[in-house]
Amino acid sequence: MKDKKAMKSWISELNLSHPLVIAGPCSAETEEQVLKTAMELKGSNVSIFRAGIWKPRTRPGGFEGVGEIGLKWLQKAKAETGLLMAIEVANAHHVQLALEHDIDVLWIGARTTVNPFAVQEIADALQNTDKIVLVKNPVNPDLSLWIGAVERLHNAGIKKLGIIHRGFSTYEKTKYRNNPEWQIAIDMQHKYADLPFIIDPSHITGKRDMIFQVTQEALDLNYDGMIIETHIDPDNAWSDAAQQVTPTQLKDIVSNLIIRKETDDADDYQQNLLKLRLQIDEFDSKLLEVIGKRMKVAESIGALKKEKNVAVLQNKRWNEVLEKMISDGNQKGLSEEFIVQFFKAIHQESIAHQEKIFNS
Ligand code: PEP
Ligand code: MN
Repeated sequence: MKDKKAMKSWISELNLSHPLVIAGPCSAETEEQVLKTAMELKGSNVSIFRAGIWKPRTRPGGFEGVGEIGLKWLQKAKAETGLLMAIEVANAHHVQLALEHDIDVLWIGARTTVNPFAVQEIADALQNTDKIVLVKNPVNPDLSLWIGAVERLHNAGIKKLGIIHRGFSTYEKTKYRNNPEWQIAIDMQHKYADLPFIIDPSHITGKRDMIFQVTQEALDLNYDGMIIETHIDPDNAWSDAAQQVTPTQLKDIVSNLIIRKETDDADDYQQNLLKLRLQIDEFDSKLLEVIGKRMKVAESIGALKKEKNVAVLQNKRWNEVLEKMISDGNQKGLSEEFIVQFFKAIHQESIAHQEKIFNS
């Protein structure tokens, strides 16, 4: 299903590096900062230079970007380095200015992807242009909004599309700034197997020392590129200081990444893989068989409860089961997070089966 040629269509058409490396500051701050950063990135694996011109800030009062003047600095940086230039656009006015200033790549930010009105306005303003457009995931973990944004651009005749995974907001504090929720991104990758998939480890981690690990994880999952915030003086950046790296650090990160092949044709690899996959298939079918049997028992319990008019949900029992499974799972090397998710799903299915018995 995955046609690698089509997937890399604009990356290979434009002779860009693979994996694709996009780097540059969170925000364009001064002409000097833009030019210096771009010059230091020139001649590396970087093929696209990023810089935010208008910054969506969660609360007012922060630095909101330099605006239109920054586009002139990017034009200069492009003339001096030959790098393609990328900015974030959030409305039709931004698009119009980007087109006027010959910006090559436009990305739709996470706070814009959530808003179909804004995405449609951007798609209309870009109608039938030849720009590269990258769609970040929405701030909330909603696959349909992400898909919807890509569809709107596709319907506007945009051919050079790509996807950026920048993680999702959570109310609870985690070790990430934005939780990766890899499964949502994998679902998106599955849906758009022919579009380049780009990791944004800067906004996922919020911390420069976690960037390498998250980027490697993405490459292990077959991503096609990365967008990494890079600044000549990260600690004094006007936005997102903690997550930006220097051009030297960026080159280090990129050169230490291990690039995985999608597959290997060698006979020994294929034969070993086949054997192991047969084992997995067998375990999967056993799993289903056991879970099916477990449901039958749950149904019998449902019938018993119905007869005695007892509630389906028994919190005390459920907590005991979960605790025991977390501790048993731990001994088998299974994470608590997995056990909780897995048994919650099983428990919900059991409840649904018992409800059916109650209502029959
Ligand atoms: C950015 O790339 O600087 C940015 C604002 O990103 P996001 O939309 O992912 O928050
Ligand atoms: Mn940023």
